[in-house]
Amino acid sequence: MSVSTVAAEKSVCSPLPVLGTEVTVPLVTGGEITYAALDYAASAPALKRVWDDVAAYAPYYGSVHRGAGHLSRLSTELFEDSRRTVAEFLDCRGDDEVIFTRSTTDSLNLLARALPAGCQVFVFETEHHAALLPWRHARVTVLDAPRTPRQAVRTLEAALAARDPHGPALVCVTGASNVTGELWPVKELAAAAHAHGARIVLDAAQLAPHRPVSVRDLDVDWVAFSGHKLYAPFGAGVLAGRADWLHEAEPYLAGGGASRAVAQRADGGVDVQWHESEARHEAGSPNVIGAYAIASACRALTEAGFEALVAREQHLIRTVREGLAGIPGVRILSLFGDDAPRVGVISFVAAGWNSSHLAAALSAEYGIGVRDGLFCAHPLLRVLLGGDAQSQGGCGTADAAVRVSFGAGTPDEHVERF
Ligand code: PLP
Repeated sequence: MSVSTVAAEKSVCSPLPVLGTEVTVPLVTGGEITYAALDYAASAPALKRVWDDVAAYAPYYGSVHRGAGHLSRLSTELFEDSRRTVAEFLDCRGDDEVIFTRSTTDSLNLLARALPAGCQVFVFETEHHAALLPWRHARVTVLDAPRTPRQAVRTLEAALAARDPHGPALVCVTGASNVTGELWPVKELAAAAHAHGARIVLDAAQLAPHRPVSVRDLDVDWVAFSGHKLYAPFGAGVLAGRADWLHEAEPYLAGGGASRAVAQRADGGVDVQWHESEARHEAGSPNVIGAYAIASACRALTEAGFEALVAREQHLIRTVREGLAGIPGVRILSLFGDDAPRVGVISFVAAGWNSSHLAAALSAEYGIGVRDGLFCAHPLLRVLLGGDAQSQGGCGTADAAVRVSFGAGTPDEHVERF
């Protein structure tokens, strides 16, 4: 790549201000260094803009939907406005619902509880456990790891063709891998699902922070993501999509807010009419600040523009991949190959290095925070590590990998230091 291309890309967008980039940490080799957080795939540092919005609102929050007072009405307005902002961010259909949950894990578990009777679920073994495990009480078909996007579509088509065409079915697929960063062919998988009468839910935990997600364009039935990976604080997530299965299901949590009317029966039991709206699955006092923070992050990313964010991120990805490729014994993990489109999530193993020692050394000697392990995707790591898991003995056992991940707030210096 020419210097001018890099310069042009860099001028497209500078890192968005995030919290934590100024933290200094001691090094075992002496002195202090600015901490380089390169673990965005786990949790992205909050955008300063999000924090400022939350700080401005925090003195005024109140419980939503219930109070006649000023603070309660203000919070209700902000909460419902946050819903609309998220719906816009995801380019939802007019009759889709946006339910605020705790996280992607929570969103997918909610949907799992709302499956119609007899629903068959199809999921690739490559999924994060949050997308692989919630369906355990349904009939689940786990599909083998594909080695190309085309193979993913063909594998799904073959599995769906073999199913009972009359029963309900759901496909759960990730948009971007939390291990390889590779993008999955979501639109093609959605088309395959619908052609066979199945529905599809997109796990956008890693996709939404890096790429625009359009429910309409991808034609997915539901999308799930987490606030803490989208530059907002912990504790809030989203499940957005079709209302029918959600309205027909028992509430995810039973309690106030989900119920429209409750009456004691003569026999001592209780009759309940549940809401037929988002409120059905939002029992209890919702996390208004979390929802507001997610909406603030959605606005900030939209204003920064994904085109510029993606161009910059691709430059950082090239820097890391080229740097790693130059180190003997380092192998970058990939399912779809070097040329696959990807987001800023890169996992690797280094011959002769135990991954947790390597991650610890990066932290202690260079002030760089990465992640090591199996990244809550054990079957995928088994596929990716393959022979390495057996071939390297003792200290060099590659039974885990190191993951470096970055995003809109990553300064160039952090990636260059890594
Ligand atoms: N899906 C993917 C692809 C993820 O990377 C993660 C978290 O790492 C999740 C789901 C679960 O997200 P959360 O822990 O916020 O529920």
